[in-house]
Amino acid sequence: MRVFKFGGASVKNPEAVRNVASIIRQHGEKSLVVVISAMAKTTNALEKLTQHYMEGEFEKMMKVYEEVRQFHLDLTHGLFDDPKHAVFFHVEQTFFHLLRYIEEKPSANYNYEYDRIVSTGEIVSTQIVSHYLNYSGIRNQWFDSRKLIITNANFRDARVDWILTSQAVKKALLPYLKPAENSKKPGIVLTQGFLGATTQGFTTTLGREGSDYSAAIIAYSLRASEVIIWKDVPGLLNADPKLFDQTLLLPNISYQEAIELSYYGATVIHPKTLKPLLSRNIPLKIKSFFQPTEPGTIINENSENDNQVPSYIFKFNQVLVSIFPKDFSFIAEHNLSRIFSDFAKNGVKINLMQNSAISFSVCFDRDRINTPALLRDLEKNFTVKYNFDLKLITVRHYEKAMIDSLIGGGEVLLEQKSRTTLQMVVKDVI
Ligand code: ASP
Ligand code: MG
Repeated sequence: MRVFKFGGASVKNPEAVRNVASIIRQHGEKSLVVVISAMAKTTNALEKLTQHYMEGEFEKMMKVYEEVRQFHLDLTHGLFDDPKHAVFFHVEQTFFHLLRYIEEKPSANYNYEYDRIVSTGEIVSTQIVSHYLNYSGIRNQWFDSRKLIITNANFRDARVDWILTSQAVKKALLPYLKPAENSKKPGIVLTQGFLGATTQGFTTTLGREGSDYSAAIIAYSLRASEVIIWKDVPGLLNADPKLFDQTLLLPNISYQEAIELSYYGATVIHPKTLKPLLSRNIPLKIKSFFQPTEPGTIINENSENDNQVPSYIFKFNQVLVSIFPKDFSFIAEHNLSRIFSDFAKNGVKINLMQNSAISFSVCFDRDRINTPALLRDLEKNFTVKYNFDLKLITVRHYEKAMIDSLIGGGEVLLEQKSRTTLQMVVKDVI
C-alpha cells in the first residue's frame, strides 16, 4: 500500500490532471491513497479572498471569488466533453456553499475564517480529479479528509490528534484498500491534503504547503510501504533552481538530514512530513511528474550520503527583531520566558535566535497578522528594534569559498555557525 501526493503544480491545468491519471495508471497499484492539494495558485487567491472578506471589501472579494470559480470551471471543461457530467454540479455546488458563507458577516477570528474559506481549494480540486480518474477508468473513492485528520482548534496551524486520526483513517480507508475478494469497492482512495477538522467538525488546516504532511499522516496511520511526492522538480535539489543556475540532485539522504533541510526552509518538503515517516521507517520518494520513471530522491534511514554536497537554503521576507529589557536588566531566564511566551501566544515560529548580555535577537517569517500583534506584545515590556525585508541564508555542509558570493555585497546582520550548518541574516544593500 502506497501514498501518492500531488501538489498544486501537478494539477494546475487539464494537461497536468491528465498526466496525474497517467502516472497513477502506470505507477500506481490496486492499493493506493492519492492526496491532492489545491490547483495551481488557488490557495493564494483564497487567502486574498479571506483578507477582503475580513476587511469588508465586498466587491474585491467577489472579484476573487469569480476568478477562482471560473478557473475551476474552465479547467473542468478542459477535462470533460459532456457539460452535463456530474462533476459540474459538484464544482458549482462547492462554490455555491462558499458564496453563501461569504455573504454573511465574518466572526472576529481571522484564522478560523481562513480555514473555513481556504479549504474550498482542496475540496474542489479533489472533486475534479476524482471524477476525472473515474471517467478515465481509474476507479477511486473520494474521501473528505475532515473526517480523517482530527486536529485541535489551532486554526491555520492545527495540531494532529494521532490516536483519533489513526483510528479514523484505518476505519474509513482500509475497507477500500484491502477490499474483500468479491467486493466492488475500488482499491484507490483519494482525499485532500492540508485539511483536517476538530472533533466538533470545524475545518482546520495544517499550515501552508501542508499536503505533504497529510500524506505522511495517512501513511503513518496505515503503515504504508512508501510515500511518493510528485513534483515539478527531479527530486530534492541542493538549492532552489529558481535562485541558482546549477543545482545538484540529492539521490539519497537520511530522514535526519531531510528534517534539518526542511526545518531550515528547503521548500520541497513540508518540515512536519518526515517525523511520522521516520517513526515507522516508511521511505519517502520525491519524483518528477514529468519524468516518472527517473528515480528522483529517496529519503530513508541511510545517512551515508548526507554530507556529500553543500545545500543552500534561502528564506525571504524575514524580520529580525532585537529585544532589550527596559529596566537595564540582563537577558536571563525571566526575560526569556516572557519573550518566548509572546512568540508562542502569537504563533510566531523562530527561525534563528541569539542573545547577548543586554539583548535578544530573533529572526522569523513576516506575517501580516501575527507580526504586528507580536511586536505590540513585546513592546509592552521591552524596547524593540526591528528590520524588515531581510533574507535568511542557511548552508548545510558549507564550504568557505562559497560564502562571499552568497552574501553578494549585502550586510550580514546576524551569523551562526555549527560544524554542519552556517546561517546568516542578510540585508540587501541597495
Ligand atoms: N494548498 C495548500 C498550500 O498551497 C497546501 C499545499 O499545497 O500543500 O499551501
Ligand atoms: Mg502547494
